[in-house]
Amino acid sequence: MTNPLLQFTGLPPFQQIKPEYIEPAINQLLAENRALVERLLRENEHYTWDNLIQPLEEADDRLSRAWSPVSHMNSVVNSDALREAYNACLPKLSEYGTEMGQNEHLYEAYKSIHDMPEFQHLDQAQKKTIENSLRDFHLSGVDLPPEKKERFKAIQQQLSKLTTKYEENLLDATHAWTRHISDEQQLSGLPDYARAMARQSAEQKGLDGWLFSLEFPSYYAIMTYADDRALREEMYQAYVTRASEQGPNAGKWDNSAIMEEILALRHELAQLLGFQSYAERSLATKMAESPGQVFGFLDDLAKRSKPVADKELEELRQFAEQQHGHEQLAAWDLAYYSEKQRQHDFDISQEELKPYFPEDKVITGMFEVVKRLYGLSIAQVDHVETWHPTVRFYEIRDNDGQLRGQFYLDLYVRDKKRGGAWMDDCSGRMRKANGELQYPVAYLTCNLTPPVGGDPALFTHDEVITLFHEFGHGLHHMLTQVDHIGVSGINGVAWDAVELPSQFMENWCWEREALNVIAGHYKTGAPLPDALYQKMYAAKNFQAGMQMVRQLEFSIFDFRLHHEYDPAKGSHIQKTLDEVRQQVAVITPPDYNRFQNGFSHIFAGGYAAGYYSYKWAEVLSADAFAKFEEQGIFDPETGQAFLHNVLEQGGTREPIELFVKFRGREPTIDALLRHSGITA
Ligand SMILES: [Zn+2]
Repeated sequence: MTNPLLQFTGLPPFQQIKPEYIEPAINQLLAENRALVERLLRENEHYTWDNLIQPLEEADDRLSRAWSPVSHMNSVVNSDALREAYNACLPKLSEYGTEMGQNEHLYEAYKSIHDMPEFQHLDQAQKKTIENSLRDFHLSGVDLPPEKKERFKAIQQQLSKLTTKYEENLLDATHAWTRHISDEQQLSGLPDYARAMARQSAEQKGLDGWLFSLEFPSYYAIMTYADDRALREEMYQAYVTRASEQGPNAGKWDNSAIMEEILALRHELAQLLGFQSYAERSLATKMAESPGQVFGFLDDLAKRSKPVADKELEELRQFAEQQHGHEQLAAWDLAYYSEKQRQHDFDISQEELKPYFPEDKVITGMFEVVKRLYGLSIAQVDHVETWHPTVRFYEIRDNDGQLRGQFYLDLYVRDKKRGGAWMDDCSGRMRKANGELQYPVAYLTCNLTPPVGGDPALFTHDEVITLFHEFGHGLHHMLTQVDHIGVSGINGVAWDAVELPSQFMENWCWEREALNVIAGHYKTGAPLPDALYQKMYAAKNFQAGMQMVRQLEFSIFDFRLHHEYDPAKGSHIQKTLDEVRQQVAVITPPDYNRFQNGFSHIFAGGYAAGYYSYKWAEVLSADAFAKFEEQGIFDPETGQAFLHNVLEQGGTREPIELFVKFRGREPTIDALLRHSGITA
């Protein structure tokens, strides 16, 4: 029997991928790749793209394609056996990666290609791939003496274990806590869909009554609507103490020591490479040039938005007091009274909008938006093997009927599935040596409200925005026309520019013309009534200042944590967070709050010393969208310009160059401030 992970024809055979296949497949590919590198370096005298880089890229691509479904399934259909096999491979992959990055002979070979006159005849993507590789050799410690190389390798391995453990703890802690309710009185204030969802969860566990969990749609419903204040407090406490030494499961999945160790190791790693801090190391591959520039950017935004946020919070306080006689706003009151205030000020609730966002309408509407913008046709493909029955598969064709890419869509919240929403790649676009073109395939993963009872899934407007966001990442990955995988799609794109195409897509969720396409009543098909749209748009920047300072709090906390780390003093995680809150936050949560223990973006994801990227890229995305505001949001010419200058280009050029090509000038912050209701 052949190992399904080693079949490289077509899409991954998800149903056949069993934990026992994982380690043997990875072992075999690593051995093959090592042998190949050795052979290519030995056999060739004069290194070229074709005799060295192309075969190595293809070999690494096979490894990525084998690992991608494993890592993906570990995130979305987690099990003990899968987790064990996944974890067994992590140190091996980390070791291989560092070993290649530290291979001096390989580095010299790349350098010789770079320094040869033929280099000038390579295309832009090839040149950029080689330049990035040379940079990355240094960042892997190729210049270090042997004992430091070993230490570097050991740190990388340990970090890969720790970040995985952090994520596992968070997942386990999230799924370990539920709240069973038998007394309907306690559901007071909750909308029908939330009750039905909780009823369904209870039934699935063989319980009567209603079952709530810490998965976002369930948590959100209680925090926003439950009149029972004690219930909100209980739920809040369970949520913000996940994976910590506090709360109902105190100490059971505690991430605290892991976070300390992660920060210490990242710092040591940065210093090995000659950087002052991990923040500096992080910027070595980003658009932002120095920590000072990042702090300056964030501080400026904080100065502009803090007064707005203070005012909004004061209005909320007054509202809660005057309208509801509630005096002290606690952390578990904010979402609840905010929703009441939104209803009062704008006569609109999140609930009213939901019937207009049934999933089919939203998804076909989203496809229609990109058809108008870029001339794309997207069709569902049946009978594709996936990891779960609710997952769908689609393909994208362009104006000429050419296949451009394919994607899996995994929409709903589910047990054993990591929270949040993200795009990941199954395979990337590349032209093989034999001429064959490999098409990009993406996983789009969300945790949206599932269908309840006999109705289709009805999304909140926020959920629609999330879907558009991830689709934007997906388009960046799938529409690329670059044939070299190192810089095709999102590969090689500076991380602080990666959120440009995603945040850019969100804008269409607010436009009347676009909502005519993506919204329609799930029973009657009626368009979103104009009065409702006007109210929704008026409420767009409701509490925008508070949202902005919250994002800034996360960004500054992350960047300070990684910039100020001092081995003599330890990480001071809580102290740093408290200080940042003093500076920018308008709300101080209770002492037991351990938000940081679930901040997987920076402790387990790719956003370490990079959370600021969201705001950084929003300057670009808002300014890019402003051109559509000027030209018309479905202006095909502007759409084609964005497609050709940004989406298709991948990482072949610096993001700022691509932006200027599209916009005709450098970005300004004005559009971001205007869209956020915070004027210059
Ligand atoms: Zn994103």
